[in-house]
Amino acid sequence: MGELIPLHGDAQESWQEQLKGAIRTPEALASALHLSPEDLPYSSAADREFPLLVPRAFAARITPGDPQDPLLHQVLATPAEDHVDPAFSKDPVGEVAQYAGAPGVLQKYRGRALLVVTGQCAVNCRYCFRRHYPYAENAVSSTQRLADIDALLADPKLGELILSGGDPLLLSDKQLRAISERIQHLRPDVTLRIHTRLPIVIPDRVTRGLEDALRVCAPQVVVVVHSNHPQEIDGATADAIGRMRDAGATVLNQSVLLTGVNDDPTTLALLSDRLFAAGALPYYLHQLDRVAGAAHFEVPVERSRRILGRLAAMRPGYLVPRLVREETGAASKLEIAPDYSVSPGS
Ligand SMILES: *Cc1c(COP(=O)(O)O)cnc(C)c1O
Ligand code: SF4
Repeated sequence: MGELIPLHGDAQESWQEQLKGAIRTPEALASALHLSPEDLPYSSAADREFPLLVPRAFAARITPGDPQDPLLHQVLATPAEDHVDPAFSKDPVGEVAQYAGAPGVLQKYRGRALLVVTGQCAVNCRYCFRRHYPYAENAVSSTQRLADIDALLADPKLGELILSGGDPLLLSDKQLRAISERIQHLRPDVTLRIHTRLPIVIPDRVTRGLEDALRVCAPQVVVVVHSNHPQEIDGATADAIGRMRDAGATVLNQSVLLTGVNDDPTTLALLSDRLFAAGALPYYLHQLDRVAGAAHFEVPVERSRRILGRLAAMRPGYLVPRLVREETGAASKLEIAPDYSVSPGS
């Protein structure tokens, strides 16, 4: 084994430097976690297709020496990914076919337009439904993006512009500021929404420049962060959420229900508690999209419904996310009703 690599990045490092210095090999990850590579069952075939990417700020929240850690489980390609299940496809929600008009623009739901502003992320999550995406084909220049935004804003029926990806907070503060100013200038009635995992993965991403970009559209600005497990919310993440709130954003969280990560009501209750203490409310809990390579993460829907029913009995309604799934062609995400029939305490 090589020398131990320190988990905590240099405090002076910018988020871009932290991203550059992210862990990209299972050997480096094992070393950082005080594990030997043999402790980490790993699939090189799956990794070639969708490579390991874990910034140290996230790795620092993985419990050293624990190969079963719920955060590790989300980022390491295991041999389970090589299992072929015909019910799991490369484009489970049929999005590739839906890039009508401009590339990178999705208009599935009334009043909302979703822009895929980048295919890159700060972390590669093994369960991600976009892991097989033809992002390169949908790449657009900054100039083209602003032109697309102008065209969308010209539609009087537009109520919300959603930045997605990949992770849209990989755009520079300047690019984000240009987008929020465009909205403020042309359509101040339109809400800006950003779906991002970056404030969770690298909390230092919430810079002054980002706060300024958010403030331009406040209070009509929503940041939906993506966190799956309470261990992801530490002091630094809570601070990052707090700074976005101070900039005037409403901060919500979405999670994916994942076997071996968060498939029990107690874990989800604790996640809601930590989010709330940080200033964010749970929004959606997604039933896994059936993407090839992620079958081992699926929670059977009847079990998901029971987990939600028990969570609802444990916390106030505002700390219970809505269990939803996506269906190709539906007019919205579809809510899955919780099963409340489980006896108390069971
Ligand atoms: C999820 C999603 C939205 C937003 O849906 P909400 O229910 O408003 O959160 C918008 N567009 C697309 C393409 C989506 O997948
Ligand atoms: S950050 Fe989001 S889009 Fe990126 S890999 Fe993870 S789940 Fe997928």
